[in-house]
This record gives sequence, structure tokens and C-alpha cells, in this order.
Amino acid sequence: MLAIQRMEPECSSSPSSTEWMPELTENCAVCGDRVNSCRLGPPACLGCIVFFRRSIIHSSKYRCLRGESCLINYEFRSSCRYCRLQKCFQTGMKQSAVRRRDCIGPRRPSPCSSDPPVLYPETDVQFIDRLIRIQTRQFEEHKKQSVVKSRRATVSDVNRMFKWSINNALEWASQFDPFQKLANEAQKCVLSEYGFSFFLIDQGFRTKCEKASGYWMLQNGTYLHSDYYYGQTDDVMETDYNTVRSHFEFVKGLQIAIQKPFESLDIDMFEMAALKSLLLVSREFSSYFFFTSTIFNFPASFPKPNIFSDYQERMEALKERCSYELMEYLSSKYTDTFVERFGALIIILGEIRTAVKLVYNQTKVSDLFDSKKFDPYVRSFFLS
Ligand SMILES: [Zn+2]
Ligand SMILES: [Zn+2]
Repeated sequence: MLAIQRMEPECSSSPSSTEWMPELTENCAVCGDRVNSCRLGPPACLGCIVFFRRSIIHSSKYRCLRGESCLINYEFRSSCRYCRLQKCFQTGMKQSAVRRRDCIGPRRPSPCSSDPPVLYPETDVQFIDRLIRIQTRQFEEHKKQSVVKSRRATVSDVNRMFKWSINNALEWASQFDPFQKLANEAQKCVLSEYGFSFFLIDQGFRTKCEKASGYWMLQNGTYLHSDYYYGQTDDVMETDYNTVRSHFEFVKGLQIAIQKPFESLDIDMFEMAALKSLLLVSREFSSYFFFTSTIFNFPASFPKPNIFSDYQERMEALKERCSYELMEYLSSKYTDTFVERFGALIIILGEIRTAVKLVYNQTKVSDLFDSKKFDPYVRSFFLS
């Protein structure tokens, strides 16, 4: 087990804040955007932190084309890298803070401690990179066990996909030490929601990759089609109108909420891994809940109370690390649009949480998702 030490609070952020980013009153000293942290000295937004860090690590040499006095604000911060870097230095960002951080992980360098706590034993491996290896292996496993010829999914396919998702989610969550420390029952509780996010994310990704327009692909290569009867064999039983209609709405809902953004962003393996991680470590188990629970009558125990309340600071730190690595990855791949792309991914997080509730709802009305027909292991995750 890793030895975990407390993270120091960033600036004045309140640990109880449920906002995506810590809520701070100050603005980024460089560009005026919303402050992410003071880890490099002055309060700064994530964009400027990433920019400064990359510049230092790569020893970037920039040139100004306009007399070295460009205005750097939120709108123009990307227009001159030379002047932006100068402004970073002027506001007090320190090269040493970057170097230090690289050795100890994402935390504010603490001037009073000569022996900084180690966040991860393997300092040279980025957290999300390690998770991508797990993801790649899980996807290869799915491919190996896929049907040879795609066909309409049956209830036993759906059952099996839940099992895969729960097991994949368990392996994933086990990479996060607060999860490991939970009692079995609590872990199960987390998985009953988290496993269902895997169900949706992995299927959304497969659907995107196969460019299967009109289909919603399951991990094993079977599909759901919004037309309930599509691809059914001749010996179909009569199905009542409500089932057919709710099936249509369910599949369309997934296509709009997940498939469409996955396709339009052409989401990649790194972003997938980041989304899965952020889903676990960010606690906002849905502002939609009240709304949907009223309509669909979810059991009162859903969503779960904050199971990680004992490890809140550690979860905050993990959230910061994951969002930081994501932002840094995006900044190298999408030089001009990475901030917008980051925002778009965060919106997808919310969509996934909402869609998990659609899945629960579907188990009440659909023969394909009829939990009574699932095996006891999978069924136990619906009841917990
Ligand atoms: Zn900034
Ligand atoms: Zn300039």
C-alpha cells in the first residue's frame, strides 16, 4: 500500500468545495482567467500553469514579432508565447517550482519542508499513461471475445457486458488508493455506479471507432439499434408498444449524449482514460439527480452518499493530478484549442452521469435490460 500524506490546500480553496475547480476569488496573475492553483507561486489558471511548465521543461525559445510588449489577457494569451512567458516570470513564476514538481508529482512546493512527500513511487511514469496500458489490454480482451459477425444484442450479451464493465471498472478503480482502502460493501457501492459508466464509455468508444452510424455497439461487437425490431430473427415474440418506444428513446439518448460528442471530438485513448479517472475522483454525483429521481422513481439510496468522505483531500489531489495531465496532454496535441477541448470533455462527464441513470431506468422497462434475467453477480450490483 502506498504511504499517503496530506496534500496542502491550494491557495485559499475550500476543501468542501464541490465545484469542478477550486473556487478562488483571485484571477490568474498572467491572463485573468479563473485560478486553478498557486503551485508555481502566483495564482494562475490551468492554461498558464501548463504553458509555463511546458516552456521550462522543453527550454522553449520563443520570439515576439511585435516589439516584446504584447498585451496578455484571457483573450490574447495565446497570441504571443514570448510575451506570455515573460509575463509568467514577471508575476513570479519560478523555474525551480517546475523542476521540483516533476520530482514529486502535482503539489505545491512547500518551502518549509525539506523532505517533500512522495505522491507516486514511480515518478517518471505519468498516472494516466499507466492507466492507458490497462485500457489497451481491456480493449484487446474485448476484441478477442467479440462475436465474429455483428448482430443484435440479446439479454445475455447485455448481462455479459455489465459483467465486463464491472470487472474493468474494478481493475481501474483499484489503481486509486482511496478505493483500495474502502470496505468491500463500499467498493461494491461505488462499482454499481462506476461500472455502469464503463458500460457506456467503452460502448460509446467502440461505436465511434467502428463508425457504425445508426447502431450503438456493445463491447463484444453486438449492437442495439433504435428500431427495436431491427435485426431480430423471425421467431420474435410480440413486444408491447411501451417497450419498443422506451428502447427507441434509450438508444437515441445514448447516441445523442455520448456517441455524438465522441465522434465530433474524435476522442482518443488518452482522453478516454482521463474521463474514466475523473468520473471516479470527482464527487459531483450529478446535479441532475433530483430531477431524474423525481421522474423515474429511483430508490432513495441512489446516488450513493459520498463514500470517499474519509479521503476527500486525497481525492481532490487525484482529481487535480488527472485534470492536470489531461490539460497538459491536450496542450501538446491541440495547441490553439486545448482549453475549449478540455471544457468539452468536462461537459461529456456530466452527460455520462446522466446516461448512467438512463441505464438504471432501462432495467425497469426493457426485456434486454431485465435485471431479473442477469446472473446473480451482475444482479447484486443493481440491488446494492
Ligand atoms: Zn492564465
Ligand atoms: Zn509579444
